[in-house]
Amino acid sequence: MGIEEKLPAGVLLTSVETLVNWSRKTSFWGATFGLACCAIEMMAAGGPHYDLGRWGMEVFRASPRQADLMIVAGRVSQKMAPVLRQIYDQMAEPRWVLSMGVCASSGGMFNNYAIVQGVDHIVPVDMYLPGCPPRPEMLIDAILKLREKVMHEPLGPNGRKMHEARLARGDVP
Ligand code: SF4
Repeated sequence: MGIEEKLPAGVLLTSVETLVNWSRKTSFWGATFGLACCAIEMMAAGGPHYDLGRWGMEVFRASPRQADLMIVAGRVSQKMAPVLRQIYDQMAEPRWVLSMGVCASSGGMFNNYAIVQGVDHIVPVDMYLPGCPPRPEMLIDAILKLREKVMHEPLGPNGRKMHEARLARGDVP
């Protein structure tokens, strides 16, 4: 007989890692950080029609200290790049970055000296979302996929690297 069958009803067995990752993914707060037109769609995702609050995410934090997720919504100008990096550095670990729209991910149509050709030159990106602009449903879908990624991250300082390696080997569903 397995230990689960000996336990009374209502007792749940899990690992510390699963519990911690579950709490992380269910309190995923975004930093208030819109850069261009994509930000309008991000704001719409937080409004009553699309209702990000269904996943405990309606609270966009004005302080990076209280935020877990940076959504880079729009093109990043060269002047804004150091500010973006500073805000990222002020966010506590663990932190995640979602690049929203083609401009944030690759510079998009702005192939010129004034625009950073991909925000991954400034900060590490965990999820790329294509589109110009991506619709709020697409942003919500990307956030849900990122939450699944968070759920499988091993704990510890090298957890994310280990997870990337597992993904590359195809060990994670
Ligand atoms: Fe604007 Fe499109 Fe660039 Fe988003 S991807 S910032 S909507 S031009």
